[in-house]
Amino acid sequence: EKVLWNDQIVTRDSVHISIEDRGYQFGDGIYEVVKVYNGDVFTATEHIDRLYASADKIGMAIPYTKDVLHHLIHQLIEANELGTGIVYLQVTRGHSPRNHAFPNPSVEAVVTGYTRESARPVQDLETGVSVCLVEDVRWLRCDIKSLNLLGNVMAKQQAVEKGCFEAVQHRGDVITEGSSSNAYGIKDGILYTHPVNNLILNGITRQVILDCCKEIGLPVVEKAFTVAQALEMDEFIVSSTGIEVMPVVKIEETQIGDGTPGEWTRKLQTAFEAKLPQQLHV
Ligand code: PMP
Repeated sequence: EKVLWNDQIVTRDSVHISIEDRGYQFGDGIYEVVKVYNGDVFTATEHIDRLYASADKIGMAIPYTKDVLHHLIHQLIEANELGTGIVYLQVTRGHSPRNHAFPNPSVEAVVTGYTRESARPVQDLETGVSVCLVEDVRWLRCDIKSLNLLGNVMAKQQAVEKGCFEAVQHRGDVITEGSSSNAYGIKDGILYTHPVNNLILNGITRQVILDCCKEIGLPVVEKAFTVAQALEMDEFIVSSTGIEVMPVVKIEETQIGDGTPGEWTRKLQTAFEAKLPQQLHV
């Protein structure tokens, strides 16, 4: 298995990460997950742009250009003969003697990446999933795809312990997003989703879904909705790079719609699949 280490494609065993890497000690870094379908990357440019945007927001420089990173991702996929799965990329602020403040003078960022085969969640996409509701206790810069995921980790664990697929978070009454997904409700032929601000990650899948809404004639209102409104939605969706357009058929003990994926959700799934790199084989 080959991995990315800084600007090199190397064997996994040859990577050395310092125990004083700032990603390891402070979660001081950022990451991306890019989906690969039959060897073809999906929305790679958007993911790379977001990685550089996250780096910018935390005052960190990625030590090469977007084009070089694009090329390295392709090399990694080829080296591992990845079919359908993901490329994980992370960049930390580098390693230096432990001190909260940025290293001064600055040190080189540490880039790592690897691939993993994973099938599309076809069964869940067909039947829909259940979610639980969890208070959103994360910090106020959820727009940054940061390695600091403890809030997300704690939320997802609650979902797992309740036998749910995902934890949908709410800040007070307001639904923000899932532990690793964006959330949407459809009511009376309108799709509602939290606006893009510091309280959510602007998902790449979210952006594709909003394009799909235009294509299928589903009006979108980017406005926060409450927990009470969520429970009254005709249809509900969570989305991410890995789970695509995932129908939610139960929130806590409340069934959504008739307990099966609704018509708009189906149309969105079809429009989304049409954008994927190739004909899909599981
Ligand atoms: N919100 C959070 C908190 C996430 O971790 C993710 C998954 N990266 C998303 C939303 C969805 O983002 P994307 O569609 O880009 O995978």
